[in-house]
Amino acid sequence: MKAHDGLYIDGGWRPAAGTDEIEVVNPADEQVIGRVPAGGALDVDTAVRAARAALAGWAATAPAERAARLTALRDVLVARGDEIAETISAELGAPLAFSQAVHVGVPVAVAGSYAELAASYAFEEKVGNSTVLHEPVGVVGAITPWNYPLHQIVAKVAPALAAGCTIVLKPAEDTPLTARLFAEAVHEAGLPAGVFNLVTGLGPVAGQALAEHPGVDLVSFTGSTSVGRQIGAVAGAAVKKVALELGGKSANVILPGADLARAVGVGVANVMSNSGQTCSAWTRMLVDSARYEEAVELAAAAAAKYADRIGPVVNAKQRARVLGYIDKGLAEGARLVAGGTRSPREKGYFVSPTVFADVTPDMTIAQEEIFGPVLAVLRYEDEEDALRIANGTVYGLAGAVWAADAAAVAFARRMDTGQVDINGGRFNPLAPFGGYKQSGVGRELGTAGLAEYLQTKSLQF
Ligand code: NAP
Ligand code: MG
Repeated sequence: MKAHDGLYIDGGWRPAAGTDEIEVVNPADEQVIGRVPAGGALDVDTAVRAARAALAGWAATAPAERAARLTALRDVLVARGDEIAETISAELGAPLAFSQAVHVGVPVAVAGSYAELAASYAFEEKVGNSTVLHEPVGVVGAITPWNYPLHQIVAKVAPALAAGCTIVLKPAEDTPLTARLFAEAVHEAGLPAGVFNLVTGLGPVAGQALAEHPGVDLVSFTGSTSVGRQIGAVAGAAVKKVALELGGKSANVILPGADLARAVGVGVANVMSNSGQTCSAWTRMLVDSARYEEAVELAAAAAAKYADRIGPVVNAKQRARVLGYIDKGLAEGARLVAGGTRSPREKGYFVSPTVFADVTPDMTIAQEEIFGPVLAVLRYEDEEDALRIANGTVYGLAGAVWAADAAAVAFARRMDTGQVDINGGRFNPLAPFGGYKQSGVGRELGTAGLAEYLQTKSLQF
């Protein structure tokens, strides 16, 4: 047993109470690359107690000191960036260059942004005859998915630390090695014992125990809408705060007058990146009738270029799920123009970059989150029709509009969604990220993400 095996609780690595383990598999070659403890309710309880014990001290720390620790954490993530990127590539299957640029690059930027916010945020303000204190919510139970293993952790832990909260993290069972490296980074950054704790384990066991624990004040969850709904119910029953970042089925709306080749090219890249395992991916492309066939041809050609560039999906179950959606698309009468269910490689959980044309808004593949490299191209008659289709799902996480700028903004204002990229606008790690409708409750990133971990106390004079 290496020094960092076990669970990270109260500032050190300790064995789990039980002996159950999780096997970590490389989805690119199906080899077992590691094992971590499958922690249980006892371990969660120990971790929550450690977080609770550390809360008063950390909450009382000066913001400048919290900023200094976050800066140190960011610096360790930078220094160990290659090791983290290799680990993410091994357990998620992402191509190494993508792991370096996005899976490590984005969380480094987010950690840096919270180091700055911790130093500059107005944790106290005057409102008339009141002084309003923005105090930490308390102990945070963070439950994260595997699709952006480090980003999803940092998007919760960094603002929680900046706010003065303490944390117990239950990461996804598929990507626990990245979570472990993160815990090592927290340790190296000199965070006091108990402020951050890691319990690896299974969702219905460790995750559920964390969500239900009476010592947790806020449950912050990212993952599927079905689990999110359960967590919301548990938190509601206990009157805990809850933040839910759930699924999406975002629309890439290409209006007449847009640069079609660019809009389609960027749109396909957006869907294929991370093998389609991005909650905010624009998995529905909306094109007007006049340019529909041209767009379909461009999309099919663009998708084919990703055939030997994209990584696998995360596990066998996920591949089966994605292939099931491709079968469903065929069964419901969509026209397959790229990819399909044939496995592109002998080993590994690969799925061919797939594009469906003649997708109608009511089809399953136009309504449900697939979470794989599958794009649906839909036809619209006019702008009102495009808007109806874009807003016509239970989700509302992201989207894109391509048109002359003023028209694009006017259209974006009418979309029921939390993020819209205008003519290829870049991801901004300071802009609020989160969902309308069933895509979630609450926001991550920037000051909005920090506010999730704060509660106000008003003093009247
Ligand atoms: P998931 O089951 O919702 O997993 C997210 C996290 O919740 C994981 O840490 C998971 O643990 C944990 N969890 C599972 N059941 C739980 C429970 N009853 N109580 C508390 N925690 C629980 O998602 P998934 O199974 O990995 O993926 C399924 C689908 O969810 C995907 O196909 C995709 O559509 C969607 N998804 C969305 C996002 C997003 O960013 N919005 C991210 C990932 C997945 P385990 O790892 O042990 O299951
Ligand atoms: Mg799961």
